[in-house]
Amino acid sequence: MNNYYKHIGKVLISSEELDKRIGELADRINTEYKDSNSLVIVGILKGSFVFLGDLIKKINIPVKVEFIRVSSYEGTSSTGKMKLNTPFTGDIKGKDVILVEDIVDTGLTISFLNDLFKKEQARSIKVCTLLSKPGSRKVHVNVDYEGFKIGNDFIVGYGLDYNGMYRNLPYIALYNQKIDDK
Ligand code: 5GP
Repeated sequence: MNNYYKHIGKVLISSEELDKRIGELADRINTEYKDSNSLVIVGILKGSFVFLGDLIKKINIPVKVEFIRVSSYEGTSSTGKMKLNTPFTGDIKGKDVILVEDIVDTGLTISFLNDLFKKEQARSIKVCTLLSKPGSRKVHVNVDYEGFKIGNDFIVGYGLDYNGMYRNLPYIALYNQKIDDK
């Protein structure tokens, strides 16, 4: 139990800061989509579920929620390739889609999903991410709603994991890999 927190370093973003910023993002979405009757928010699993849960509670216009799960597999190419874990069955054709990510890092996930939803004939596609690491991009992606820009350090909490753990932390913190577990 105590070891669980041993690797948790500096808190980068507190729960109060997260709550305030998510309120600002939701306000913008409420304003910009007030005339849309077909808003679909698509959460990218697993990392986005905490952010999406808090964001959606602050949305006050008609909205549907879907989830999609993708993973990357490292082939011979250094860019990595994305694949869908299960086929996406949501109804997207003619809809206004907002993709919700926990963090945009290389940009490969968002770029892959953008292409996918274009093929599914979404009416519009925007990207909302809680965090962004602009210094790590491998491909250029447009981010329409962005919570916080951060550096290239590995972080956990608020949905983001290390080996499946720490998603429950109510804040975003640095993860110290170097600390000895013994
Ligand atoms: P990308 O933009 O590279 O395609 O992928 C973004 C995904 O990489 C995120 O959804 C997240 O799962 C993972 N990721 C990137 N940076 C971090 C980080 O600092 N911490 C954690 N826990 N996951 C990260």
